[in-house]
Amino acid sequence: MIVVVKIGTSSVTVPGGGIDSSAIAKLASELAGLALHHKVVVVSSGAVSAGAAVLAAVSRGAVEGGEAAWTADPALSQALSAIGQHRLMRVYDDAFAAVGLTVGQVLLAPTDFALRGRYLHARATLLRLAEIGIVPIVNENDAIADDEIRFGDNDRLAALVAHLLRADLLVLLTDQAGLFSADPRTDQHATLIEEVAEVDHELESVAGGPGSKSARGGMASKLAAAKMASWSGVTSVIAAADRPQVLADVVDLVTGRRAPGEAAVGTVFMPHARQLSARKLWIAFALRPSGRLVVDEGARRALVEQQSSLLPAGVIRIEGRFSVDDAVEICDASGLVFAKGIAQLPSDRAADWVGRRSSHLPEDLRAEAVHRDDLVVLVA
Ligand code: GLU
Repeated sequence: MIVVVKIGTSSVTVPGGGIDSSAIAKLASELAGLALHHKVVVVSSGAVSAGAAVLAAVSRGAVEGGEAAWTADPALSQALSAIGQHRLMRVYDDAFAAVGLTVGQVLLAPTDFALRGRYLHARATLLRLAEIGIVPIVNENDAIADDEIRFGDNDRLAALVAHLLRADLLVLLTDQAGLFSADPRTDQHATLIEEVAEVDHELESVAGGPGSKSARGGMASKLAAAKMASWSGVTSVIAAADRPQVLADVVDLVTGRRAPGEAAVGTVFMPHARQLSARKLWIAFALRPSGRLVVDEGARRALVEQQSSLLPAGVIRIEGRFSVDDAVEICDASGLVFAKGIAQLPSDRAADWVGRRSSHLPEDLRAEAVHRDDLVVLVA
């Protein structure tokens, strides 16, 4: 199998900033066990937190305000990632060397998934590393990524990597045992959800925000990653990084080697039968929407049943402000989002195109609202 293991900031750093070497050593030894039988790719966060600890040590006050300061200041967190990334890698390097493995660093940006040439190069490099027995450790290229289009959280990045590699399994390791029916930090009746067949709106409303301030992820972004993985045909599991033998147990679980009744390992998300191309995945899950197109029932059916383009005539109204080439959500009259795409018409000229038949459009606005090649319908 090809297994992508994503390790969150809270699992490799200590509260307040700084690398937790013993947590990394524990994971490295488990990853070494996994690498005996599978191709393993790690996606690790923690660079920003590692950088903050260094900066605090060399120039007290430089990150005054602690975690809150760097999460609120994108340029600062990008600078901190430059300080922390190589230090994080040094700890990984040592921890893997101790279990007889070598690591290689790969830093990726959203454009690496959007541009086919780069996508193929990233894929070839990661696969070659895994083939020659090196464990790739991936992070976002935080220091230079344009803040507007950054992934922002490594859960999404890990899901795109799993898609890129046609992985069999994506493991999202975090500080919680999995997805719960309510927030376990505040609700003592919360129970672990062991299997999810489909990530739907109801489930999305259960997922809370990030636990620690330095972690960008939280359950909402893990769910988004699991959804992306499932649309890529990849099984994913959310589990606790500090659970003993977590990786071996996850693999046993998804390969059906765990006896019924054994202690729960985490939350498993089943893959979807219909799968999306890399470009459509990117549109659906990585691009931030700038606005919304509310469409009528006829347009909804044409999109869902015939995979048509969305014509201006089918749009009832728009929300938000967007330019040509911005991502927009597409929802029905009740407000339910069922698709996403890239707008071909701008919101500031809405009065000239919303609800108009193609023959009534001004000459310079003769386009689909969203072309079918740029449109992703997200219903099973
Ligand atoms: N890439 C960021 C880092 O290494 C983490 C993003 C996240 O927490 O998911 O610090």
